[in-house]
Amino acid sequence: PQIPTNGKDIKGIGDRIIPHSSVLPVVADVDGDAKAATQLQVKRISPSYYTKFLSDAAKERKPSPIRGLFPLEKTPGLISLLAGKPNPATFPFTSLTFGARSPTDPNKELSLSLDEADLQQGLQYGDTAGLKKLCDWFAGLQTLNHGRKKNEGWRISVGSGSQDLLYKAVTAMVNRGDSVLVESPVYAGVIPLFQNLHCDLIEVETDGEGISSDSLRFILENWPVGKAKPKVLYTVPYGCNPTGMTATLKRRKEVLRLAQEHDFIILEDDPYFYLYYGDTPRYPSYFSLERQELEVGRVLRFDSLSKILSAGIRIGFASGPEALLAAMDSHTATANLQVSSLTQAITFTLLDSWGYDGFMKHTETVANFYRKKRDVFESAMKKHLSGLAEWNTPEAGMFFWFKLLLNDKPDRDETGDSEAAIKTRAFERGVLALPGAVFLPNSRKTAYVRASFSLTGEEDVNEAVQRLRLAILDSRAA
Ligand code: PMP
Repeated sequence: PQIPTNGKDIKGIGDRIIPHSSVLPVVADVDGDAKAATQLQVKRISPSYYTKFLSDAAKERKPSPIRGLFPLEKTPGLISLLAGKPNPATFPFTSLTFGARSPTDPNKELSLSLDEADLQQGLQYGDTAGLKKLCDWFAGLQTLNHGRKKNEGWRISVGSGSQDLLYKAVTAMVNRGDSVLVESPVYAGVIPLFQNLHCDLIEVETDGEGISSDSLRFILENWPVGKAKPKVLYTVPYGCNPTGMTATLKRRKEVLRLAQEHDFIILEDDPYFYLYYGDTPRYPSYFSLERQELEVGRVLRFDSLSKILSAGIRIGFASGPEALLAAMDSHTATANLQVSSLTQAITFTLLDSWGYDGFMKHTETVANFYRKKRDVFESAMKKHLSGLAEWNTPEAGMFFWFKLLLNDKPDRDETGDSEAAIKTRAFERGVLALPGAVFLPNSRKTAYVRASFSLTGEEDVNEAVQRLRLAILDSRAA
């Protein structure tokens, strides 16, 4: 990696990275080597360097004149006539109690209440980046799971689900017409974000090991002279939506190295991180890996509570460089002011009562739940779709991505098109799945299909997959 370690101001590079002021101990090497005792210096991108990653819209956005003064209200002895906050004495809510499962004993119900201060906060306007207590809790979680320490130039912003934060991140960084790197196939929910900005979507191939670093390197090394290089790469590293694949450590390391060499930010969208149920120890996230590689500031990470606590509670959080989060917060301040204080307060009450151990125990239970679902679904696929479809086994998340073998002739067209087979024939047979073309930004045809195994009960799985079999046979016969 092209990072100077001596702090010299080499134009274009020297001002990119500044050595971190403190010397931080490395928790563990990525391969588990005992480097723990070594004191190594972590370098991070200089805050001023992020200006080049900001979109014109983000640069032009003026800070909210009111919200910018909010922190001053906490000055002791100050009488504030500042904000248009309604008087809570007029709010009719007097208490909020809810039941939640104990993470250690699923048969036990905990009765939780918001204490008075939390209820007051939950009913009032709050900080743009999120409820302070909740942000702190999430920051502690990132330290625990990704080894990131507080003093590395990153923080948390809470969003209404990670979708909200992804939208704000893209708006904060991407200009109309920019080239952006996306893994392909890609989560369908981000395609419109880029298309609305008329972006040139550069597809990076993926396979059973996740995003292909070879494909990424090829794209970057053959980048047309004179064309502005991409500022972002979007990827879902665990249990990818739609492919179900998890990027291997080797791929992650190479992608991170390419981000450093070619100077782009990795948008690490990781809502299935806690739904990892593979047999081997989990790979470090990009957010963790950059810390282990001792150069931080390239990764903007997105976590979501949707798949582990509730999708309707609409809580996600972004972790990353302060300068990028500030631009996103600025958007929030003008768009929706903040995420609902009440859902944040409820979430905090639950997480605080569980503690980190309880939270991890709960996510383990959720991951095991999906592992069983995967096994049931895969055994039905083996029974009914052998010779009619091909797939890799997911180790995280809730999706099977499989290729329909729609033509049984020896000279069959390998590309195929799952659209008719799924939209028409499968529907006629009484089963619905998603044609893969939905996840291809440049509207190519594909023989792939995404099937979600999260909801279907064991008794229906066999029937559903059998119906898919009939639909494929119908297509072959047509
Ligand atoms: N990213 C990916 C890859 C997803 O699959 C989803 C949910 N389908 C989201 C983001 C959005 O999640 P949230 O509910 O946190 O907005």
